[in-house]
Amino acid sequence: MTKKLFAGAEFLVTDPNPADIFTPEDFTEEHRLIRDTARDFVKDDIEPNAERIDAKEEGVALGLFAKAGELGLLGTDVPEEYGGLGLDKVSTTIVTEAFGNSGSFAGLHGAHTGIGTLPIVWFGTEAHKQKYLAKLASGEWIGAYCLTESGSGSDALAAKAKAVLSADGKHYILNGEKIFITNAGWANTFVVYAKVDGDKFTGFLIEAGTPGLTTGREEHKLGMHGSSTRTVILEDVKVPVENVLYEVGKGHKIAFNVLNIGRWKLGAGSLGGAKGAINGSIQYAKQRIQFDRPIASFGMIRAKIADMTMRTYAAESAVYRLAGMLDDRMATLSAQDKKNGEKLAKAVEEYAVECSIAKVLGSEVLSYCCDEYVQILGGYGYITEYPAERYYRDSRINRIWEGTNEINRMLIPGTILRRAMEGRVNLLGAAQAVAKELIEFSPMGVQIPDEPLGLQGHCVKMMKKIALMLAGLAAQKYGPKLSEEQEILAGLADTVMDIFAAESAVLRTRKIIATVGADKAKGQIAATELFIDTTLPILEQRGKRLLTHMEKGDMLRTQLAGLRKLAKYQPIDAIDRSRIVADLVTERECYPF
Ligand SMILES: Cc1cc2nc3c(=O)[nH]c(=O)nc-3n(C[C@H](O)[C@H](O)[C@H](O)COP(=O)(O)OP(=O)(O)OC[C@H]3O[C@@H](n4cnc5c(N)ncnc54)[C@H](O)[C@@H]3O)c2cc1C
Repeated sequence: MTKKLFAGAEFLVTDPNPADIFTPEDFTEEHRLIRDTARDFVKDDIEPNAERIDAKEEGVALGLFAKAGELGLLGTDVPEEYGGLGLDKVSTTIVTEAFGNSGSFAGLHGAHTGIGTLPIVWFGTEAHKQKYLAKLASGEWIGAYCLTESGSGSDALAAKAKAVLSADGKHYILNGEKIFITNAGWANTFVVYAKVDGDKFTGFLIEAGTPGLTTGREEHKLGMHGSSTRTVILEDVKVPVENVLYEVGKGHKIAFNVLNIGRWKLGAGSLGGAKGAINGSIQYAKQRIQFDRPIASFGMIRAKIADMTMRTYAAESAVYRLAGMLDDRMATLSAQDKKNGEKLAKAVEEYAVECSIAKVLGSEVLSYCCDEYVQILGGYGYITEYPAERYYRDSRINRIWEGTNEINRMLIPGTILRRAMEGRVNLLGAAQAVAKELIEFSPMGVQIPDEPLGLQGHCVKMMKKIALMLAGLAAQKYGPKLSEEQEILAGLADTVMDIFAAESAVLRTRKIIATVGADKAKGQIAATELFIDTTLPILEQRGKRLLTHMEKGDMLRTQLAGLRKLAKYQPIDAIDRSRIVADLVTERECYPF
C-alpha cells in the first residue's frame, strides 16, 4: 500500500511525496519470487524456442503456454476461488513485464490473460466464472477478444456485426466478421461484440466449435510471427442468451474498461522488451571489436546505451507507480465490490489517463530501444539470425493495438479536460492560479533546493505549470471545439506524458536516495537528470509551437515570455551523466536498475 490515494490525473495539480508512490524497489518477497519464476521461464523455456515459436512449429507455443499455466503465470488476475492466483496489480505488472521479452509469445500471453480473460473475471456471471475461469487460468483453454472489424478499428463502436434474438427468446443469432483477432486459431473462448437490433452494442461469450463460428487463414505479419492472428467469421451463430456478457447494450463498458487494463499492461510488457534490447545491445557491444576496440568503448555507442536506459528507467518508474495506484484503489473495494464488474471497472477507469500514458510511453520507449538495438549491431542487426531484427519487427505492433497511440493521445487531454469540467480534478483553478502567478513570476526569485535532484524537482513543478498554462489556454480558446484541434491535443498529451514520466523518475530516485543514500544511487540520479535534461527543452519547444498557433500579436509575446520564464533551466553536464549511466550498464552487462 502506498500512502495517499490519488485521483486519476491528479498528479498534474499536486506535489506528491516520494513515499506516496510505489516503485520497483518496494517489491515484497512474493513479488520477487513471481518475478524470478516469470523471468526464468522466459529465459529458460521461451528464449531457446524463439525460432520454433516464430516458425509456428506444431505444439511448441501451446506446450509452453500450458507450462506457463502450470507455473501460475496465466492466472495472476483470476481470483483464487476460480482457480487463479488473485494477486495484486504489481504482481501482474511484473509477470507482464517478463513476458514482454518473449517475442511472439507475448502476443499469446497478453491477449489471453488480458483482453481474453478479464471480461469474464469482471463482467461474467457466476456461472461463466465457474465454467471458464479455472480453465483459462490453468492454460487448458485459450481466450480471444473480438472487437475490430474491417470497417471499424479505432472507431470500434461503428461495428456492423449483428445479434438478433431468436423467436423463442433462447438464443441470439450472430452474423458478422471480426478481423485481426489474436489467438483466433487456438482459442476456446471468444468474447465477441455485436449490435443487438442494430444499435445495442453487446458482449457475447462464444465457445470454439459453436456451429457457424469459423476462422480465416493466418495473417502474414511484419512481426509477432509466432502468434495467431485471424479473421473470425460469424454465420448464424446461435449463442444462448445466458452467454450475453454483462447486459445487452452495455458492451462498450466491457470493451473500453478492459482496454484500460490492456493499456497499462502493454506499458508493462514494453518494459520487458526495452530491457531485452538494452541487454542484447550491451552484450553485443562489449564483444564486437572494431578499430581494435570493443564498440562498447565508443562514446556514440555509450550515449545510445545511456539514452535507452534512462528512457526505460522513466517508463518503468511511471508504469510501477501506476500499478501501485491501481492496487491502492482496489484496496478500497470491499470483497463484494471486487466481484462487481461495474465497481472494478470504475476503480480502473479512475486511472484511464495514466493507463493511456503507460501505453504510449511504454510502446514508444520500446520502439526507440529496438531501433537503437538494430543500430548497435550494425549490419548484423539487419540479419534475421540475430535477435535485434526480431525485436524491431515484434515491437512495432505495440503502437497500433490496444487503441493506436494517436487515439490514446486524444484520450489523454480529452479525459483530463472532461474531468476538470466535472470538478473531479481542479485543473481550471490551478490553470487560473498559474495565469495570475505568471504576471509576477520571476525565475530569479526561485530558490532551488541544494540537494540531489533539487533542480529536477523544481523542473517538474515548472513543467506542470507549463501544462496548466497550455491546457487552460486551449480550453478557453476552443471550448468544446478543442476535440477538432488534434495537433493541440497531441501536444498537450505529450506534455502530460513527459510530466508523469519525469515526476515518476524523480520521486522514485528520491525514494531510493532516502533509503540507500545519494552515493549508492548515482546511476539512478544520473538517469533522472538526463531524462529531465532531454525532456524539458522539447517540452518548451512544443509549448512554443502550441502558443504560436493559439495566440497572435501582443498576447502571443506575453505568453511566450511566460513560457520562457517557466522553462528557464541551467543545463547540467549531460555528457557526464550519460557516461555514468553507460558505465553502469557496461559493468553489469544489463539494464542496471
Ligand atoms: C497483429 C494484430 C493483432 C490484433 N489483435 C486484435 C485482437 O485480438 N482483437 C481485436 O479486436 N483487435 C485486434 N487488432 C486490431 C487493432 O486493435 C486495430 O488494428 C487497431 O485498433 C487500429 O484499427 P485499424 O487497424 O482499423 O486502424 P484505423 O482505425 O483505420 O487507423 C488508421 C490510422 O488512422 C489513425 N486514426 C484513426 N482514427 C483517428 C482519429 N480519430 N484521429 C486521428 N487519427 C486517427 C490511427 O491512429 C491510425 O494511425 C489487432 C491488430 C493487429 C495488427
